[in-house]
Amino acid sequence: MDIEPCELCHRLGGHPLWRDEFCRVVLVEDRDYPGFCRVILERHVAEMTDLAPGERMRLMDAVFATEAALREVLRPHKINIASLGNVTPHLHWHVVPRHSEDRHRGADRRLDVRVLDVLRGQRADVHRELDRRPG
Ligand SMILES: [Zn+2]
Repeated sequence: MDIEPCELCHRLGGHPLWRDEFCRVVLVEDRDYPGFCRVILERHVAEMTDLAPGERMRLMDAVFATEAALREVLRPHKINIASLGNVTPHLHWHVVPRHSEDRHRGADRRLDVRVLDVLRGQRADVHRELDRRPG
């Protein structure tokens, strides 16, 4: 019986923007969706309910920090967030800025650097917040 290797356990899944021992944020190279990021749990778990409540919050903090960074850098029309796993049953969130037809100007080579800078600031805030949280 073959065991399928998990793509997200063996590959980063995009250009790494931020990472700690719990999760990572990567930028997906997709011409149609500039700024498309994935927030990927480091360990192989399928569902949010496999996580302890504190871990769920920690993962969503990273998702929302990514959303906030993308909003600040790209000023998108809307951000779509989804947890999908049709191909890979490894918990990850898609954070996808949507632009109206004339708003693809955010797609440039420095996008990863700009999002990274903002995200680092956001994550610093998140860590301070978590440090204050009891338990
Ligand atoms: Zn995996």
